[in-house]
Amino acid sequence: MAPQDKGKGGGGGGGKKGKWRGGIGTFDNMNLLPDILRAVKRKGYRLPTPIQRKAIPLAKAGHDVVAMSRTGSGKTAAFMLPVLNRLKEHDTSGAGPRALILSPTRELTMQTFKFAEDFGKYTDLRAALLIGGDSMQEQFAQLADNPDVLIATPGRLIHHMDEIDGFNLKSVRMVVIDEADRMFELGFSDQVKRIFRSLHESKQCLLFSATMPAMVAEFASAGLKDPQLVRLDSES
Ligand code: ADP
Ligand code: MG
Repeated sequence: MAPQDKGKGGGGGGGKKGKWRGGIGTFDNMNLLPDILRAVKRKGYRLPTPIQRKAIPLAKAGHDVVAMSRTGSGKTAAFMLPVLNRLKEHDTSGAGPRALILSPTRELTMQTFKFAEDFGKYTDLRAALLIGGDSMQEQFAQLADNPDVLIATPGRLIHHMDEIDGFNLKSVRMVVIDEADRMFELGFSDQVKRIFRSLHESKQCLLFSATMPAMVAEFASAGLKDPQLVRLDSES
């Protein structure tokens, strides 16, 4: 890593590092598909944050990843970009949802859905939002529309699995647990485990969290395959 990249500076701001654009540790250098890179720029992201710089290449290469960094450090793009990129790279649209992103609350799930729309806007990928309180009718319609990505709270996803004939997660090959610490704090661990049991053996798992309480660490070591650990602690 080059010297200028060390030390403070962190996130995506830092307009003075112009000569770094296109160099090591930039979005241009991550081999993202052009349609996805274009959306990153459109969203105004100039440089990746530290968690993005570390997690995106690992997740993009297909590794299981456990990533920990503080709130506000840019974790959403750190999983969304590799997920969308891999969905486009291995394009088998229409064969059922291939990625699943779980968040603990309705609000967070809606925010994550917005990121999927933003980063996927120049692709034909489709996301479905499955959260409590929304019309079931609308969600059935989204599911009938062959979404590539499901973005859901565990409770509503399980509800759909139980209630909709023929709806299952067999086609899912990538799963993200976002805000894993809150997920477990809020008591969703049994639901998350049940969802995991219904997933295909061969899948990529990404687990993102602001902190790593014992329950989350245990879940990660039991449920993920040789995960790459990315921890930024307070320096992020
Ligand atoms: P976290 O999930 O770690 O709490 P978010 O993914 O919600 O963080 O990101 C926090 C804010 O920072 C969001 O407004 C997001 O759009 C913005 N952001 C994330 N990454 C970048 C980046 N590389 N450049 C500019 N802004 C970014
Ligand atoms: Mg987040």
